[in-house]
Amino acid sequence: MASSNDHLVQSDDPNHPANLIPSLCAKFWHLGWVTGTGGGCSIRDDDLVYLAPSGVQKELMKSSDLYVMSLAAQSASLFKRQRIYLREPKGLKPSQCTPLFLAAFTKRRAGCCIHTHSQWAVLVTLLLESQNKNVFEISHMEQIKGIGKGFEKSGNLGYHDTLRIPVIENTAHEEDLTEFLEEAMDEYPDTYAVLVRRHGVYVWGENVHKAKTQCESLDYLFQLAVEMKKLGLPWIRSPELVNLQAQYK
Ligand SMILES: [Zn+2]
Repeated sequence: MASSNDHLVQSDDPNHPANLIPSLCAKFWHLGWVTGTGGGCSIRDDDLVYLAPSGVQKELMKSSDLYVMSLAAQSASLFKRQRIYLREPKGLKPSQCTPLFLAAFTKRRAGCCIHTHSQWAVLVTLLLESQNKNVFEISHMEQIKGIGKGFEKSGNLGYHDTLRIPVIENTAHEEDLTEFLEEAMDEYPDTYAVLVRRHGVYVWGENVHKAKTQCESLDYLFQLAVEMKKLGLPWIRSPELVNLQAQYK
């Protein structure tokens, strides 16, 4: 069945998911987001889900390495771990991230989900661990405007809003994170990302453009937060400072 559906990953269009995933993964590898085959990216085009395989060097990935599945067929599947693929590459294994990407597609109707092992994301989770916290919060930063207001809400967060990203604990196997990721989505219905302690972050968006810009904005904010902590600066601006600024308007 697998070889009969090779046409699903063959296109001359650079914006076709089968071409976008390898080109995005190569870009993410250069950012240090998907080093050593960790991390990845998946795109949903209507009912079709395109996925990178497990263990492939992300900067060298080809369209022919991709898995393709039908989202509707998965929800009809009785066994959660039994995945039905429309197209399977020869000699490769499906990514352990698959059920986490599917959670973003089914629970948030995302069009794209990106998973990075960015050191900035990992460091933020370590800083929060030292404070016994399981949510990252930052306010009064211009880059917050790069993040959407929430699921089915139009527009983006504003400069005065506080961005909150939940943190879940890491598990021995990536796929075991799924139920905790889903719980975090339920608890923070407006979040577009979930941090994983000592591991990285999952970021999604309505489409590839939104997922990518949100992932970039978050990585910028995570790096900034780590540098701020080094300088002893708080992530949430104190009310006194807000009042002082209002006084001089
Ligand atoms: Zn991972």
